[in-house]
Amino acid sequence: MKLFTIGPVELYQSTKEVRMHDFVYFRTDEFSEIVKDCLSKLSNLLGNNEPNSLIYFAASGTAVMEATVENCVSDSDKVLVINGGTFGHRFCELLEYHNKNYSSIDLKWNETLTQKHLEPFENKGYTMLFVNLHETQTGQLYDIKMLSDFCKRNNMMLVVDAISTFLADEYDMKKWGIDLTIISSQKGLCLSPGMSFVSFSKRMLEKIENMPLPASKYFDFKDYLKNITRGQTPYTPPVLVMYELKDMLKLIEKEGGLNARLDFVKEKAEYFRKRAKELGLTIPNYPLSYALTPLYFDDVNAYEVIQLLKNKYRIFVNPCGGDLANNLLRVTHIGNTTIDDIDDLLDKLVLCIYEVKNKELTNVK
Ligand SMILES: *Cc1c(COP(=O)(O)O)cnc(C)c1O
Repeated sequence: MKLFTIGPVELYQSTKEVRMHDFVYFRTDEFSEIVKDCLSKLSNLLGNNEPNSLIYFAASGTAVMEATVENCVSDSDKVLVINGGTFGHRFCELLEYHNKNYSSIDLKWNETLTQKHLEPFENKGYTMLFVNLHETQTGQLYDIKMLSDFCKRNNMMLVVDAISTFLADEYDMKKWGIDLTIISSQKGLCLSPGMSFVSFSKRMLEKIENMPLPASKYFDFKDYLKNITRGQTPYTPPVLVMYELKDMLKLIEKEGGLNARLDFVKEKAEYFRKRAKELGLTIPNYPLSYALTPLYFDDVNAYEVIQLLKNKYRIFVNPCGGDLANNLLRVTHIGNTTIDDIDDLLDKLVLCIYEVKNKELTNVK
């Protein structure tokens, strides 16, 4: 069995083994030390050297997207959202749900985000930009330099859901002036699901300090920020995922650090794309994250190909929700997979496409 899904991903052997070892009770100095050490290393990987600026939750990424809306958007803020797929749309829904003032740039499928989309929003009093830097539904990776420059010009705070780009593409909070980053355990970090993180810039920390209490008590950022200075959380954390994180950070270091990890993901993505093109498969033209490759089909039902690949070969790839369900299939390059695994996947994918096509032809007759 192999997971080429975007998260949870195919786990590393050492991650699986973590759960067989003992772990300490969490309200202890020993656990606090593990937390402090892990969060400080994770902050480095995010390019954020602000002390005590990273907190984490026993929750999936969406909870932290929502908590960000509650804790960081005031009644006087005007938010602009890049809405290029289901995850961009989710930010809109959350802002709507919490009665925040926002507008969105809505991209059509296959439409690349460019400067011309931003122009109508220059000097219009917007205070924050919300973006899922890699829109996981389509695979589009937005231009961080363009967005960062736009925010600087307009004196806006830059809020990034980096859940599916972190540890797949280069990412640096300091370099791009990013004020808030959301990441999750089950994507680029290749851990079990259940833990999500928020990292803040200095000025975002100052803003939160002056915000009224959020709608949800459980997700009160100020409470987590206070507790994290001693390596603790207000409520029970996913202790085992923290141990997985400790192991993964060690593994990344052992492999040669951040750049070595990014290079390997890139190598897998480029190999997959080259071979897929040779096989006559269609990859969309917009800029892509190395985290995943979408394949576009108009002559065979993509959803049926995915089902066959799963049922016949136990290989899992992502379908695509919404309007593109029958046309798009997504293959991820994060996780514990190798070039050989990619060859195997492509061999079987071709067989499945052939089989589904033949079945469709027979049904027509
Ligand atoms: C996976 C993902 C999320 C989180 O989704 P959950 O189902 O809440 O884990 C959020 N944003 C992006 C861009 C994602 O890829």
